[in-house]
Amino acid sequence: MDELTHQVTMSQSQQFRESVSTEKLLVAEAVKKHFPVRSGLLRRQTGAVKAVDGVSFALERGETLGLVGESGCGKSTLGKTLVRLLDPTDGRIYFDGTDISSVSQRQMRDLRRDIQIIFQDPGSSLNPRMTVADLITEPMEALTDWSRKKREERLYELIDEVGLQDHHVGRAPHEFSGGQRQRVAIARALSVNPTLVVADEPTSALDVSVQAKILNLMDDLQDTYDLTYLFISHDLSVVRHICDRIAVMYLGELAEVAPVDSLFTEPKHPYTKALLSGVPRPSPEPMTDRTVLTGDVPSPENPPSGCRFHTRCPAYIGEICEQTNPDMRDIELGHTCACHHYE
Ligand code: SF4
Repeated sequence: MDELTHQVTMSQSQQFRESVSTEKLLVAEAVKKHFPVRSGLLRRQTGAVKAVDGVSFALERGETLGLVGESGCGKSTLGKTLVRLLDPTDGRIYFDGTDISSVSQRQMRDLRRDIQIIFQDPGSSLNPRMTVADLITEPMEALTDWSRKKREERLYELIDEVGLQDHHVGRAPHEFSGGQRQRVAIARALSVNPTLVVADEPTSALDVSVQAKILNLMDDLQDTYDLTYLFISHDLSVVRHICDRIAVMYLGELAEVAPVDSLFTEPKHPYTKALLSGVPRPSPEPMTDRTVLTGDVPSPENPPSGCRFHTRCPAYIGEICEQTNPDMRDIELGHTCACHHYE
Protein backbone atom coordinates (compact mmCIF):
# COMPACT_ATOMS: atom_id res chain seq x y z
CA MET A 1 0.00 0.00 0.00
CA ASP A 2 1.52 3.36 -1.00
CA GLU A 3 1.70 6.22 1.50
CA LEU A 4 -1.15 8.21 -0.05
CA THR A 5 -3.50 5.22 -0.11
CA HIS A 6 -2.54 4.45 3.47
CA GLN A 7 -3.31 8.02 4.57
CA VAL A 8 -6.67 7.99 2.77
CA THR A 9 -7.57 4.62 4.29
CA MET A 10 -6.56 5.82 7.76
CA SER A 11 -8.52 9.03 7.45
CA GLN A 12 -11.67 7.19 6.26
CA SER A 13 -11.27 4.71 9.06
CA GLN A 14 -10.85 7.47 11.66
CA GLN A 15 -13.84 9.34 10.26
CA PHE A 16 -15.91 6.19 10.53
CA ARG A 17 -14.85 5.63 14.14
CA GLU A 18 -15.63 9.20 15.05
CA SER A 19 -19.05 8.93 13.43
CA VAL A 20 -20.15 5.93 15.49
CA SER A 21 -20.93 6.25 19.13
CA THR A 22 -19.20 4.03 21.66
CA GLU A 23 -22.71 2.95 22.71
CA LYS A 24 -23.01 0.72 19.62
CA LEU A 25 -23.09 -2.98 20.37
CA LEU A 26 -21.03 -4.07 17.37
CA VAL A 27 -18.73 -1.98 15.22
CA ALA A 28 -16.98 -3.37 12.14
CA GLU A 29 -14.19 -1.16 10.91
CA ALA A 30 -12.68 -1.89 7.48
CA VAL A 31 -13.02 -5.64 8.09
CA LYS A 32 -11.40 -7.93 5.53
CA LYS A 33 -11.44 -11.67 5.13
CA HIS A 34 -9.23 -12.99 2.35
CA PHE A 35 -8.68 -16.69 1.69
CA PRO A 36 -5.27 -17.53 0.20
CA VAL A 37 -5.17 -19.28 -3.17
CA ARG A 38 -2.22 -21.69 -3.44
CA SER A 39 -0.85 -23.52 -6.43
CA GLY A 40 2.19 -25.43 -7.68
CA LEU A 41 4.17 -28.19 -6.05
CA LEU A 42 5.20 -26.01 -3.12
CA ARG A 43 1.67 -24.72 -2.63
CA ARG A 44 2.87 -21.14 -2.79
CA GLN A 45 0.23 -18.44 -2.38
CA THR A 46 -0.56 -17.09 -5.83
CA GLY A 47 -3.57 -14.96 -5.01
CA ALA A 48 -6.44 -14.46 -2.60
CA VAL A 49 -10.19 -14.74 -2.65
CA LYS A 50 -11.31 -11.38 -1.26
CA ALA A 51 -14.56 -12.60 0.23
CA VAL A 52 -14.89 -9.55 2.53
CA ASP A 53 -12.87 -6.53 1.52
CA GLY A 54 -13.12 -3.52 3.82
CA VAL A 55 -16.58 -3.53 5.39
CA SER A 56 -17.50 -0.88 7.98
CA PHE A 57 -20.82 -0.53 9.79
CA ALA A 58 -22.22 -0.29 13.29
CA LEU A 59 -25.04 -2.18 14.95
CA GLU A 60 -27.24 -0.46 17.53
CA ARG A 61 -28.34 -2.28 20.64
CA GLY A 62 -31.74 -3.89 20.15
CA GLU A 63 -31.91 -3.34 16.39
CA THR A 64 -32.10 -5.82 13.55
CA LEU A 65 -29.77 -5.14 10.66
CA GLY A 66 -30.37 -7.14 7.49
CA LEU A 67 -27.34 -8.05 5.41
CA VAL A 68 -28.42 -8.86 1.86
CA GLY A 69 -26.87 -9.67 -1.49
CA GLU A 70 -26.67 -12.43 -4.06
CA SER A 71 -25.07 -15.69 -3.16
CA GLY A 72 -21.27 -15.41 -3.32
CA CYS A 73 -21.22 -11.73 -2.29
CA GLY A 74 -19.48 -12.51 1.03
CA LYS A 75 -22.31 -11.97 3.51
CA SER A 76 -22.02 -15.34 5.28
CA THR A 77 -18.24 -14.98 5.46
CA LEU A 78 -18.71 -11.54 7.00
CA GLY A 79 -21.16 -12.97 9.56
CA LYS A 80 -18.74 -15.74 10.56
CA THR A 81 -15.86 -13.27 10.75
CA LEU A 82 -17.80 -10.88 12.98
CA VAL A 83 -18.47 -13.65 15.51
CA ARG A 84 -14.85 -14.86 15.14
CA LEU A 85 -15.67 -18.27 13.71
CA LEU A 86 -13.21 -16.98 11.09
CA ASP A 87 -10.25 -14.76 11.87
CA PRO A 88 -10.31 -11.41 10.07
CA THR A 89 -7.44 -10.76 7.66
CA ASP A 90 -7.49 -7.05 8.52
CA GLY A 91 -9.66 -4.44 10.19
CA ARG A 92 -11.18 -4.14 13.64
CA ILE A 93 -14.30 -5.62 15.26
CA TYR A 94 -15.56 -4.04 18.47
CA PHE A 95 -18.17 -5.80 20.58
CA ASP A 96 -19.61 -3.77 23.44
CA GLY A 97 -16.58 -1.49 23.27
CA THR A 98 -14.01 -4.31 23.33
CA ASP A 99 -11.78 -5.01 20.35
CA ILE A 100 -12.42 -8.70 19.60
CA SER A 101 -10.66 -8.79 16.24
CA SER A 102 -7.42 -10.20 17.58
CA VAL A 103 -8.40 -11.95 20.81
CA SER A 104 -7.51 -15.64 21.03
CA GLN A 105 -10.11 -18.37 20.61
CA ARG A 106 -9.73 -19.07 24.36
CA GLN A 107 -10.62 -15.45 25.14
CA MET A 108 -13.46 -15.66 22.62
CA ARG A 109 -14.89 -18.53 24.63
CA ASP A 110 -15.82 -16.03 27.36
CA LEU A 111 -17.61 -13.93 24.76
CA ARG A 112 -19.53 -16.86 23.27
CA ARG A 113 -22.27 -16.34 25.85
CA ASP A 114 -22.91 -12.89 24.43
CA ILE A 115 -22.57 -13.70 20.73
CA GLN A 116 -24.42 -16.63 19.17
CA ILE A 117 -25.02 -17.71 15.58
CA ILE A 118 -27.93 -19.55 13.95
CA PHE A 119 -27.19 -21.32 10.68
CA GLN A 120 -29.28 -21.85 7.57
CA ASP A 121 -29.66 -25.59 7.76
CA PRO A 122 -30.43 -26.92 11.25
CA GLY A 123 -30.32 -30.43 9.77
CA SER A 124 -26.55 -30.19 9.45
CA SER A 125 -25.79 -27.76 12.29
CA LEU A 126 -27.49 -29.90 14.98
CA ASN A 127 -25.68 -33.09 16.01
CA PRO A 128 -28.02 -35.91 14.93
CA ARG A 129 -26.87 -38.14 17.80
CA MET A 130 -27.95 -35.67 20.49
CA THR A 131 -31.42 -35.24 21.94
CA VAL A 132 -33.15 -31.88 22.00
CA ALA A 133 -32.44 -31.66 25.75
CA ASP A 134 -28.71 -32.26 25.16
CA LEU A 135 -28.59 -29.80 22.26
CA ILE A 136 -30.16 -27.01 24.28
CA THR A 137 -28.32 -27.61 27.56
CA GLU A 138 -24.88 -28.19 26.00
CA PRO A 139 -24.06 -24.43 25.60
CA MET A 140 -25.20 -23.84 29.20
CA GLU A 141 -22.85 -26.56 30.47
CA ALA A 142 -19.95 -25.23 28.40
CA LEU A 143 -20.40 -21.50 28.94
CA THR A 144 -22.13 -20.96 32.29
CA ASP A 145 -21.75 -22.11 35.88
CA TRP A 146 -25.47 -22.69 36.26
CA SER A 147 -26.59 -25.62 38.41
CA ARG A 148 -28.19 -28.68 36.84
CA LYS A 149 -31.55 -27.54 38.23
CA LYS A 150 -31.22 -24.08 36.66
CA ARG A 151 -30.18 -25.59 33.30
CA GLU A 152 -33.22 -27.86 33.38
CA GLU A 153 -35.56 -25.00 34.24
CA ARG A 154 -34.09 -22.95 31.40
CA LEU A 155 -34.51 -25.90 29.01
CA TYR A 156 -38.25 -26.17 29.62
CA GLU A 157 -38.68 -22.39 29.60
CA LEU A 158 -37.06 -22.25 26.14
CA ILE A 159 -38.96 -25.25 24.82
CA ASP A 160 -42.15 -23.41 25.63
CA GLU A 161 -40.94 -20.08 24.26
CA VAL A 162 -39.94 -21.47 20.86
CA GLY A 163 -43.27 -23.29 20.47
CA LEU A 164 -42.16 -26.88 21.16
CA GLN A 165 -43.61 -29.22 23.77
CA ASP A 166 -42.12 -30.82 26.85
CA HIS A 167 -42.28 -34.35 25.38
CA HIS A 168 -40.01 -33.21 22.52
CA VAL A 169 -36.93 -32.94 24.74
CA GLY A 170 -36.02 -36.64 24.46
CA ARG A 171 -36.21 -36.74 20.67
CA ALA A 172 -33.42 -36.46 18.09
CA PRO A 173 -33.34 -33.71 15.41
CA HIS A 174 -34.26 -36.09 12.56
CA GLU A 175 -37.63 -36.72 14.21
CA PHE A 176 -38.66 -33.12 13.55
CA SER A 177 -39.71 -31.06 10.54
CA GLY A 178 -37.37 -28.36 9.19
CA GLY A 179 -39.30 -25.63 11.02
CA GLN A 180 -39.19 -27.51 14.32
CA ARG A 181 -35.45 -28.15 13.91
CA GLN A 182 -34.91 -24.42 13.40
CA ARG A 183 -36.90 -23.82 16.63
CA VAL A 184 -34.47 -26.17 18.40
CA ALA A 185 -31.52 -24.28 16.89
CA ILE A 186 -32.99 -20.97 18.09
CA ALA A 187 -33.54 -22.35 21.60
CA ARG A 188 -29.95 -23.63 21.63
CA ALA A 189 -28.60 -20.21 20.57
CA LEU A 190 -30.69 -18.37 23.18
CA SER A 191 -30.00 -20.82 26.01
CA VAL A 192 -27.09 -18.77 27.38
CA ASN A 193 -28.88 -15.39 27.15
CA PRO A 194 -26.80 -13.82 24.36
CA THR A 195 -26.93 -10.12 23.50
CA LEU A 196 -26.17 -10.48 19.79
CA VAL A 197 -27.47 -13.19 17.47
CA VAL A 198 -26.15 -13.55 13.93
CA ALA A 199 -28.79 -15.43 11.94
CA ASP A 200 -27.34 -16.73 8.67
CA GLU A 201 -30.23 -17.38 6.24
CA PRO A 202 -32.27 -18.92 9.10
CA THR A 203 -35.42 -19.38 7.01
CA SER A 204 -34.17 -20.00 3.48
CA ALA A 205 -34.31 -23.80 3.79
CA LEU A 206 -37.96 -23.65 4.95
CA ASP A 207 -41.36 -23.54 3.20
CA VAL A 208 -42.82 -20.05 2.85
CA SER A 209 -45.57 -20.66 5.45
CA VAL A 210 -43.01 -21.96 7.96
CA GLN A 211 -40.67 -19.05 7.19
CA ALA A 212 -43.30 -16.58 8.39
CA LYS A 213 -43.75 -18.47 11.68
CA ILE A 214 -40.01 -18.56 12.35
CA LEU A 215 -39.70 -14.84 11.54
CA ASN A 216 -42.56 -14.05 13.93
CA LEU A 217 -40.93 -16.20 16.59
CA MET A 218 -37.60 -14.39 16.18
CA ASP A 219 -39.41 -11.06 16.38
CA ASP A 220 -41.17 -12.06 19.63
CA LEU A 221 -37.96 -13.41 21.17
CA GLN A 222 -36.18 -10.17 20.33
CA ASP A 223 -38.71 -8.28 22.45
CA THR A 224 -38.56 -10.82 25.28
CA TYR A 225 -34.77 -10.93 25.51
CA ASP A 226 -33.85 -7.48 24.18
CA LEU A 227 -31.77 -9.13 21.44
CA THR A 228 -29.76 -7.49 18.69
CA TYR A 229 -29.87 -9.35 15.37
CA LEU A 230 -27.65 -9.38 12.33
CA PHE A 231 -29.97 -11.11 9.87
CA ILE A 232 -28.25 -12.44 6.75
CA SER A 233 -30.43 -13.23 3.75
CA HIS A 234 -30.41 -13.24 -0.04
CA ASP A 235 -34.15 -12.41 0.04
CA LEU A 236 -35.13 -8.75 0.47
CA SER A 237 -38.78 -9.61 1.01
CA VAL A 238 -37.78 -11.68 4.07
CA VAL A 239 -35.57 -9.02 5.66
CA ARG A 240 -38.18 -6.34 5.05
CA HIS A 241 -40.47 -7.83 7.68
CA ILE A 242 -37.96 -8.23 10.46
CA CYS A 243 -35.25 -5.59 9.98
CA ASP A 244 -34.90 -1.96 11.05
CA ARG A 245 -32.07 -1.26 8.61
CA ILE A 246 -30.62 -3.06 5.63
CA ALA A 247 -27.02 -3.26 4.43
CA VAL A 248 -26.63 -4.33 0.80
CA MET A 249 -23.41 -6.18 0.01
CA TYR A 250 -21.79 -6.75 -3.38
CA LEU A 251 -18.59 -8.68 -4.04
CA GLY A 252 -17.10 -8.24 -0.56
CA GLU A 253 -18.08 -4.59 -0.08
CA LEU A 254 -21.10 -2.67 1.16
CA ALA A 255 -23.01 -0.87 -1.60
CA GLU A 256 -25.76 0.81 0.44
CA VAL A 257 -27.01 0.98 4.03
CA ALA A 258 -30.39 2.50 4.89
CA PRO A 259 -33.46 2.21 7.11
CA VAL A 260 -35.86 -0.35 5.63
CA ASP A 261 -38.45 2.17 4.44
CA SER A 262 -35.87 4.41 2.73
CA LEU A 263 -34.25 1.45 1.05
CA PHE A 264 -37.52 0.18 -0.37
CA THR A 265 -38.98 3.54 -1.40
CA GLU A 266 -35.83 5.45 -2.38
CA PRO A 267 -33.03 3.03 -3.20
CA LYS A 268 -29.95 4.88 -4.44
CA HIS A 269 -27.47 2.24 -5.56
CA PRO A 270 -28.09 0.57 -8.96
CA TYR A 271 -27.39 -2.82 -7.37
CA THR A 272 -30.02 -2.26 -4.68
CA LYS A 273 -32.48 -1.17 -7.37
CA ALA A 274 -31.76 -4.34 -9.31
CA LEU A 275 -32.31 -6.53 -6.26
CA LEU A 276 -35.55 -4.69 -5.48
CA SER A 277 -36.81 -5.17 -9.03
CA GLY A 278 -37.25 -8.84 -8.23
CA VAL A 279 -39.27 -8.22 -5.05
CA PRO A 280 -43.09 -8.02 -5.21
CA ARG A 281 -44.23 -4.50 -4.16
CA PRO A 282 -47.47 -3.41 -2.55
CA SER A 283 -49.57 -1.14 -4.82
CA PRO A 284 -49.02 2.21 -3.03
CA GLU A 285 -45.34 1.71 -3.50
CA PRO A 286 -44.81 1.31 -7.26
CA MET A 287 -41.38 0.70 -8.67
CA THR A 288 -40.77 3.53 -11.12
CA ASP A 289 -37.40 2.53 -12.52
CA ARG A 290 -37.04 -1.18 -12.91
CA THR A 291 -33.45 -2.36 -13.18
CA VAL A 292 -32.63 -5.72 -14.69
CA LEU A 293 -29.51 -7.44 -13.44
CA THR A 294 -27.64 -9.56 -15.98
CA GLY A 295 -24.61 -11.84 -15.68
CA ASP A 296 -23.09 -13.49 -12.65
CA VAL A 297 -21.21 -12.02 -9.71
CA PRO A 298 -17.52 -11.78 -10.85
CA SER A 299 -14.90 -13.85 -9.04
CA PRO A 300 -13.82 -12.34 -5.71
CA GLU A 301 -10.33 -13.63 -6.54
CA ASN A 302 -10.08 -11.12 -9.34
CA PRO A 303 -12.67 -8.40 -8.71
CA PRO A 304 -13.27 -5.68 -11.33
CA SER A 305 -11.27 -2.45 -11.00
CA GLY A 306 -12.90 0.72 -9.72
CA CYS A 307 -16.51 0.15 -8.72
CA ARG A 308 -16.88 -3.61 -8.43
CA PHE A 309 -20.38 -3.43 -9.86
CA HIS A 310 -19.32 -1.69 -13.09
CA THR A 311 -19.29 -4.87 -15.20
CA ARG A 312 -23.02 -5.34 -14.57
CA CYS A 313 -24.24 -1.84 -13.81
CA PRO A 314 -27.12 -0.53 -15.95
CA ALA A 315 -26.34 3.02 -14.74
CA TYR A 316 -22.63 2.91 -15.70
CA ILE A 317 -21.47 6.47 -16.38
CA GLY A 318 -18.02 5.98 -17.88
CA GLU A 319 -14.35 5.81 -16.97
CA ILE A 320 -14.74 6.95 -13.39
CA CYS A 321 -16.74 3.79 -12.65
CA GLU A 322 -13.87 1.61 -13.94
CA GLN A 323 -11.08 3.60 -12.38
CA THR A 324 -12.23 4.77 -8.96
CA ASN A 325 -13.91 2.70 -6.30
CA PRO A 326 -16.63 5.01 -4.90
CA ASP A 327 -16.51 5.83 -1.18
CA MET A 328 -19.51 5.24 1.03
CA ARG A 329 -21.23 8.67 1.21
CA ASP A 330 -23.93 10.00 3.53
CA ILE A 331 -26.99 10.82 1.46
CA GLU A 332 -29.37 11.59 4.27
CA LEU A 333 -29.60 10.69 7.90
CA GLY A 334 -28.81 6.99 8.24
CA HIS A 335 -28.71 6.42 4.46
CA THR A 336 -25.30 5.81 2.89
CA CYS A 337 -24.40 4.69 -0.62
CA ALA A 338 -21.22 3.88 -2.56
CA CYS A 339 -21.86 5.05 -6.13
CA HIS A 340 -20.51 7.92 -8.27
CA HIS A 341 -23.95 8.41 -9.75
CA TYR A 342 -26.34 7.87 -6.85
CA GLU A 343 -28.40 10.97 -7.72
FE1 SF4 B 1 -22.78 1.88 -11.45
FE2 SF4 B 1 -20.76 3.59 -11.63
FE3 SF4 B 1 -22.43 3.67 -9.54
FE4 SF4 B 1 -20.71 1.67 -9.78
S1 SF4 B 1 -20.20 3.83 -9.47
S2 SF4 B 1 -22.84 1.52 -9.23
S3 SF4 B 1 -20.68 1.38 -12.01
S4 SF4 B 1 -22.93 4.11 -11.70
